[in-house]
Amino acid sequence: MTYIGRFAPSPTGSLHIGSLVTAVGSYIHAKQFGGKWVLRIEDIDQIRTAPGATDSILKTLDAYQLEWDGEIRYQSPETKHYIKVAEKLILQGLAFKCSCSRKKLKMVNNDSNAIGIRCQSNCWTEENQLGPTSIRVIADSSNINFVDYLQGIQKCNLFNCMGDYVIVRRDSVPSYHLATVLSDDLQGITTIVRGIDLLELTAIHIHLQQILRLQTPNYLHLPVIVNSKGQKLSKQTGAAPVDNTDTTNIAVKVLNYLGLQAPKELIGSQPKELWNWAIKNWDPKILNNKKQLKIDTL
Ligand code: GLU
Repeated sequence: MTYIGRFAPSPTGSLHIGSLVTAVGSYIHAKQFGGKWVLRIEDIDQIRTAPGATDSILKTLDAYQLEWDGEIRYQSPETKHYIKVAEKLILQGLAFKCSCSRKKLKMVNNDSNAIGIRCQSNCWTEENQLGPTSIRVIADSSNINFVDYLQGIQKCNLFNCMGDYVIVRRDSVPSYHLATVLSDDLQGITTIVRGIDLLELTAIHIHLQQILRLQTPNYLHLPVIVNSKGQKLSKQTGAAPVDNTDTTNIAVKVLNYLGLQAPKELIGSQPKELWNWAIKNWDPKILNNKKQLKIDTL
């Protein structure tokens, strides 16, 4: 089977150093396997999409000479298809319409984390479906177990750890879970390399793949970069956009985060040369079980 990997940023802002590390990690891993690396812009949530963000992401990928294979895929034109899939799950008795807000669910479940939330008994009857409804998949008692290439064995009892999860939001926008699982399938993705912040949600993705009878890809969750307060870098935590002018030095730093020390003779080289060296030399196992990398230690 040909390896197809991907980078799937949401255009909510420019890439920061953490997202660049994920992009490079997924790129060199794919190329090490002689695979393809495709680019998907996860713009399904138009409200969170920031003007100019896609352009900025593409400029950074260009500046860092990260060449994707084939055409860029955008999720937003596929919205109707995703909704149809969700409606089919309702007809199959695997999903249901729900008018509960997260707040209400937390209340009825007496659960401040809203983990393991159960909704059906409270609001899936016709008379309770007032106002806009989301679509939730019924969390059965499946045990979703999988092995992450870096983070090892993962176990989740869907009912206890996730509860009835949303696949279409109350504003009729397909959820990240549904969109990402269907896009990965449409693009024939065989291996997903992404940040560990998404590891927990992978059980939902595998459950969806099972009920939709789709292939489950391999997963590798990279540690995320955190700031001095231990917060994951993000727009919300004030992460700066990647500097597109100092690419040679930053590329060396990115490799350091991935556990690679570029040889002296390559310092000052174009990113492409550094990536080519990394493709030959990267052993992701050096990051085994690592969850976080501190930004200020490098
Ligand atoms: N679009 C997500 C993000 O930017 C990543 C999705 C994924 O890799 O599954 O955080």
